[in-house]
Amino acid sequence: MRVAIIGAGFGGLCMAVKLARKGIPHVVFEKGGGVGGTWRVNTYPGAGCDIPSHLYSYSFEPYCDWSRRYPGQQEILAYLEMIAAKHDVRPRFGTEVTELAHDGTGWLVVTPKAAERFDVVVTAVGQLDRPSMPDIPGMDTFQGDAFHSARWGARDLQGKRVAVIGTGSSAAQLVPPVAETAGQVDVYQRTPNWVLPKADGEFGPLTRAMFRWVPGAHRAYREWIFAYLENTVFPAFVDGWSTDVIRKMALVHLHREIRDPELRRKLTPGYPPGCKRIVLDSRFYPALTRPNVELITDPITRIVPEGVETSSGLRRTDAIVYATGFHSTEFLLPMTVTGTHGRDLHEQWRDGAEAYLGLAAPGFPNLFFLYGPNTNLGHNSIVHMLEAQVSYVMGCLDLIAERGQMEVTEGALSTYTTALNRALAATVWNRGCRSWYMTPTGKITNNWPRNARDYRRFTRRPRPGAYNFGTGR
Ligand code: NAP
Repeated sequence: MRVAIIGAGFGGLCMAVKLARKGIPHVVFEKGGGVGGTWRVNTYPGAGCDIPSHLYSYSFEPYCDWSRRYPGQQEILAYLEMIAAKHDVRPRFGTEVTELAHDGTGWLVVTPKAAERFDVVVTAVGQLDRPSMPDIPGMDTFQGDAFHSARWGARDLQGKRVAVIGTGSSAAQLVPPVAETAGQVDVYQRTPNWVLPKADGEFGPLTRAMFRWVPGAHRAYREWIFAYLENTVFPAFVDGWSTDVIRKMALVHLHREIRDPELRRKLTPGYPPGCKRIVLDSRFYPALTRPNVELITDPITRIVPEGVETSSGLRRTDAIVYATGFHSTEFLLPMTVTGTHGRDLHEQWRDGAEAYLGLAAPGFPNLFFLYGPNTNLGHNSIVHMLEAQVSYVMGCLDLIAERGQMEVTEGALSTYTTALNRALAATVWNRGCRSWYMTPTGKITNNWPRNARDYRRFTRRPRPGAYNFGTGR
C-alpha cells in the first residue's frame, strides 16, 4: 500500500511518522521549501500561538524544554524541524499538488512535474493557508509596500508610517512590536474583538529542569492544561457557566488598559465572547494607547497611491499590512479533486464543506482529510485533534488492507451531519457575528461543536458500518 500525504505541517508530519513506524511506504508532498506549514509561513513580528506551549507538541514526542508559557513561531518551527530530522521525514519540497483524480482503484496525484499513483491520499493542508485579501477599490494603485500578514518575509518597518487593516489575532500580535519602531501605525478596525490577557512569561531554569527530569511532571502539567481548557473555556461556547466569567474578564481587561471612554466604546464588541475567535493578547490594548498608534473605525472607502481613504479623509502611509485573514472555508482549494464517476469535490461542497468526522466524503474512497471540515477548536490544541485523526486513519489503513478500498456512505455522513448541525446550533458561533468559521451564506464549516475529548472518543476507531468496501486497496 502506498500513501500520499499532502502538506508537511503539524498534520502531515504526524501522519508520516506514524506510517514510517508501521513501515508503510509514503511520500510527503510539500509546496513550500521546508516543514512547518503555517509556522513556517507566518513570520510577522510577534507571531505566536495562543495555546499553552506544553500542549502544543505531539503526545508521542512531548517537548519539555519550552522557553515560554505560550510558544513563539520560531520555537514551534524549531520543534517541527527537530521532529522531521529525528524521524527522517523527507518531504518532496517545492512540489505543489494541483490535482487528485480517482481512477477506479487508486489515486493519481498530479503535480506540475508529474502524475503518480497511490492507493491512499491523506490531505494535511490546514485551514488557514490561503491569504484572503479584501476587495477595496484602488488597492492596486498604492505606491508603497502592501502585503498580507502571512507574507511578511523579512521586512523592517522601522520609522515608517504603517496602516494595519484588520484586528484579528494576527493584527493583535503584530501591532505591538511594529509600533515600537514604526513612525506611525494606523489600525483599521471593522469589527471589535473580545480580548483576554495572555498570562505569558518565560519559564525559569528550575521549572524547565523539573519538566525535563522529574518523572511524570511534564505529563501531569500537560493533562492539567488540557482539562482546564476543556472544563473552563469550552463551556463558554455553549452558554455554559463560564460565558459570563469570560465576558467580565474581557471587560475588566478593557477597562484596566484603556482609559479613554471613546476608545473603550470603539473596542467593545456587540456580540457574545467566543462568537469570533477570542484574541488572547496582553499587548494589543496597551499598544493602542501609544502616541504613535491610532485606531480608526471609519469605514475604508478606497486605497489611493498615497495611502488609505476613509469617510473622514486621506491618511498617508508608507506600507499597508493586510491582516485580513484567510480563505478558511474553501477547503483544499485550489487543488481539483475528482472522485469516482467524475465526482467533483468542490461541486459537492458548493454550499459548504461537509465530511464524516471531518475526515472522509462519499464518492472519494481512500481519501482522508486532516484538520478537515468542522474539526477546528476555539479553546484547545489542534495537535490533539490531528493526533486523533491520524490514529483513525491508521485504523482505516488496517481495514483497507483487509477489505479493500473504503468509502464513507451517504447515510453515515447524513446522520453525522444532522447531529453536528444540532450541536452547532447550540453554540455562540452563529449569534450575531461574522467569522472565519462560516461561509458567506452563514454555514459553519470550520468548528467542532463539542469538546476535544468527545472528538477523540468518536474517532477512537473506524466503524466499518459507516463505509462501503470495494475493489482495489
Ligand atoms: P481573522 O481572524 O479572520 O481577522 C481578519 C481581520 O481582518 C478581521 O478583523 C476582519 O474584520 C478584517 N477584515 C477582513 N476583511 C476586511 C475588509 N475588507 N475591510 C476591513 N477589515 C477587514 O484573521 P487572522 O487575524 O489572521 O486570524 C485568523 C486565525 O488564525 C485566528 O483566529 C487564529 O485561529 C489563527 N491565529 C492564531 C494566532 C494566535 O495563536 N494567537 C495568531 C494569528 C492567527 P471583521 O472582523 O469585521 O471581519
